[in-house]
Amino acid sequence: MRKRRLERNYRKPFEFTKQTKTEALRRAGFSCESCGVSKRETKEKYFEIHHQIAIGWYLKNKEQFYFVSHAFISSLENAMCLCVDCHTDLHRNESLDYYLGVAQAIAETTPQLALPFMKALSKK
Ligand SMILES: [Zn+2]
Ligand SMILES: [Zn+2]
Repeated sequence: MRKRRLERNYRKPFEFTKQTKTEALRRAGFSCESCGVSKRETKEKYFEIHHQIAIGWYLKNKEQFYFVSHAFISSLENAMCLCVDCHTDLHRNESLDYYLGVAQAIAETTPQLALPFMKALSKK
């Protein structure tokens, strides 16, 4: 019981705030960013805000994600609006390599992430 609470608190700074979730939904036009189904077309489907770089993989593999800032994980840039089916599919196929690929792709286009990334590269 106590352990579970600690784990939840550990993850908390990396969760999206309600406001970020709402902004992500709006940015996606209230539709799934994978299959395109919209909230208007479907009454029974839930929409969920997915972490493009997942919290669990990030926390367990910090060395590999050295170029990703903590703040990025809970930012709107890391948010993705998915219908529950696409979200389930995505997590069924996840792996460390998958998330590292995602992180590197984002690093190429996102200054918040690319800046520490470039700094880390120039230090080498
Ligand atoms: Zn979908
Ligand atoms: Zn997710």
